[in-house]
Amino acid sequence: MTRWIEETLFPHWGQRFCVGKVLFEDKTEHQHLVIFESTSHGRVMMLDGAVQVTLADEFVYHEMMSHVPLFALKEPKHVLVIGGGDGGILREVLKHPSVKQAVLCEIDRTVIDMSLKYFPEISAGAFDDKRTDVRIEDGVKLVAETHGRFDAILVDSTDPVGPGSVLFTKGFYASCRRCLNKGGVLVTQNGVPFMQGAELKQSMSYFRELFEDSTCYLAAVPTYAGGQMAFGWASNDHKVRTAKLADIRERFMAAAIATKYYTPAVHKAAFALPAFVDRLITN
Ligand code: SAM
Repeated sequence: MTRWIEETLFPHWGQRFCVGKVLFEDKTEHQHLVIFESTSHGRVMMLDGAVQVTLADEFVYHEMMSHVPLFALKEPKHVLVIGGGDGGILREVLKHPSVKQAVLCEIDRTVIDMSLKYFPEISAGAFDDKRTDVRIEDGVKLVAETHGRFDAILVDSTDPVGPGSVLFTKGFYASCRRCLNKGGVLVTQNGVPFMQGAELKQSMSYFRELFEDSTCYLAAVPTYAGGQMAFGWASNDHKVRTAKLADIRERFMAAAIATKYYTPAVHKAAFALPAFVDRLITN
């Protein structure tokens, strides 16, 4: 009998996966975690009914959340990843030779443990890199209290449900601003505008209050159902976002990072927003 697992992120619409085998399912201290072999996308992780990562398309999201900010910056050294327990963002961040320190603040140790067990190819050794510093704590607490300062803060969070809710608040964004170095940039997982427009609108209104430069950029992640997904962008230096294509290309070539989705041209094009998204984030 064929088994299906449905994504329940949206109450009245969603995708489903034909399941080969469920590998892990439990309620952790923070959320419901299921990992299964799908017949279409390889291994899949879901948290509280929402797709987090699939082996088939993880490269899109992890490359675009990491390389757009890090190649927009001249020489990023200190990076903070909030969430990101699967290790995919950490993997891509550590490919940048300029990065000296990558702090990963993940609230749920079980996500890291199960990702290492069932998705070792996603972190690909990133958790063992000597530049990595893993903290198991709530991201809202870390950014409120840390003395660390960062060139990029990448919020690879779940959606604003459960433990992820606090990572979409004005207070959290204000704390992130406090922890950014001069010219630093905050990038956030901000959902699929076509289905989660209100969340994006809210984040952008906070960004406009707190930062000189705020917008979002887009990428099409096939299993983040509902169209292109938005990465929130906030910085106190608009020159970071408007870095020249030639400079981005030069940094990309020098770093010699192999990618499957990100290119300097895709980087620049990702900030070209459809009218409905532009209206969402500016009104
Ligand atoms: N790429 C995925 C997406 O776009 O939905 C996110 C992947 S990653 C698995 C999301 C992580 O955020 C989870 O491991 C979850 O435990 C973590 N998380 C949720 N709320 C958090 C919080 N308040 N502080 C730190 N980590 C949190």
